[in-house]
Amino acid sequence: MEVAPGVHRLDYAIGAKPMAGYIIAGDHLTVVDTGLPNTPEEIYLPAIRSLGRSEDDVRLVVITHADADHIGGNHAARDLFRNAMFLCHHNDARWASDPAVIMAERYDGFAGYGIRYDQSVFDMLASWMGPPAPMDILIHGGERLRRSEDDWLTVVHVPGHTPGHICLYNPEERYAIIGDAIFGRSQVDTAGGWSAPPPYLSVSDYRYTIQTLESLSPDLLLTCHYPVMRGDQVREFLDASRKFVTLADELARDLVVGATGFVELETAVARANERLGPFAFPDDAQFAMLAHLNRMVDQGLAERTVNDGKVVWTKVGTK
Ligand SMILES: [Zn+2]
Repeated sequence: MEVAPGVHRLDYAIGAKPMAGYIIAGDHLTVVDTGLPNTPEEIYLPAIRSLGRSEDDVRLVVITHADADHIGGNHAARDLFRNAMFLCHHNDARWASDPAVIMAERYDGFAGYGIRYDQSVFDMLASWMGPPAPMDILIHGGERLRRSEDDWLTVVHVPGHTPGHICLYNPEERYAIIGDAIFGRSQVDTAGGWSAPPPYLSVSDYRYTIQTLESLSPDLLLTCHYPVMRGDQVREFLDASRKFVTLADELARDLVVGATGFVELETAVARANERLGPFAFPDDAQFAMLAHLNRMVDQGLAERTVNDGKVVWTKVGTK
C-alpha cells in the first residue's frame, strides 16, 4: 500500500504481533528494517517485484533501531540486496550487528535485578534473528536522504526505546516513519488487544522523543506495529504515550515512598501490570520500571543498593 509518495507500507504479522515494513521507492529503493530472517525473501522481494523493480535497486537499508524483529533479517537482506549499504544510529550499532550481543545486553540484561525471561522467550527471540551482519554507515541524526528529484527525508534521533532509535521525517509531505519510537498506552496484538507495556530504557529520552515528535507534528504517522495514523489519531497516540510515562512515574514514586523495605524490580513489574495494564505479556514492564526507578535515584528520592544479590531501591534515608 502506497501511504505517501513513493512510500510503500507492507503489513504482515509474526503470530499475533502486527508488523509493518517500508519500501521507499525513488531513484533507487530504500528498505526500512529487515524483520525476521525470512522477511526479506517473503515480504520485501514480492513487494519489490510488484513495483516493477529489482532487488538490485535496493541501495540503502535503514535500521530504525536494534530489536530482534527489526534486525533479524539483516544477514538475509545483505545476501538478497547485494547493492545495499546498511545504516543505523551509532548508539545502536553493536546491538544491530550481532544477535549474541543484543541477546546478552538487552534481553538478558536484567539478571542483576533478579529477573530473566522464561527460556521460551529467549528461544523465540533467537529464532527471530539470523547470523551477525555488519552495518556500513553509522549516523547521529540530522542527515538527509534523497528519495527522488528534490524530495528528501530527514533522519531524526528519537531515543528511549533504544539509545539509537531514529525516524525518517519528510517535512514537505509531512509524514514520519517512526518505527517503535513511541507506544501509546500499550503495544497491541493483531486484534488490537493490549499485548505488552511500552519498553523504554530512559524516561528522559522517551519524553524527549514524545516532545520531538509533537514538534514535528506529522500529519501521517507510520509505525512498525500499529495501524497507519493520521491527524487527530497522531495527537491521541502522542498523548497516550505521555500518559503512560506519567502513570509509570507515579507508580515508581508510590512504590519507593510507600515502601517499608526494599523495592525489587520484580515487584514493580507486577504492580505495573495491575495499575497500567493488564497486559497479555506483562514481563516487558521490566524496561520501563527499571527506567523509572533509576529516575527516582536521579531525582534524589531513592537509593540503589544490593540485597540478597539483587539490585533494589529504598527511599532516601532508610538504607
Ligand atoms: Zn518492534
